[in-house]
Amino acid sequence: MIHYALVCDAGHEFDGWFDDGAGCDRQLARGLVACPSCHSSRIGKALMTPSLANARHGLTPDAGASSLPGGDAALRSAMQELRRQVLAGAQDVGRDFAARARQMHEGEIAAKPIYGEASRDEVVSLLEEGVPVLPLPPAPKEQH
Ligand SMILES: [Zn+2]
Repeated sequence: MIHYALVCDAGHEFDGWFDDGAGCDRQLARGLVACPSCHSSRIGKALMTPSLANARHGLTPDAGASSLPGGDAALRSAMQELRRQVLAGAQDVGRDFAARARQMHEGEIAAKPIYGEASRDEVVSLLEEGVPVLPLPPAPKEQH
């Protein structure tokens, strides 16, 4: 008998015992092995190497996500890139921003990406009404 750690396509891990390795492959190929948790017959051999098992779970945080190399400069440039992408796909509605955002939220006009100016009080009242608004990082300089 030979023991394999098996995993189904939903990620359930379980143990399987087979006459030999070829028998295991044959039974897996024919769908004769079912997951005891979800009864899926799409079963594969689990990877037993600890480092591979960790990689498969994919929970290792990306080191670059939490600590930006280059500190403030990198953060500023990321913020400017975000601003540029938002503005590229949105319409400038200027001082009408609060009114438009509220109309879109109420379904009075079609929702689309907009940006514009709003006072702090307007933003606060929009958020209190549940209107999703996102403050943009300030531009370093106006380009026009
Ligand atoms: Zn399963």
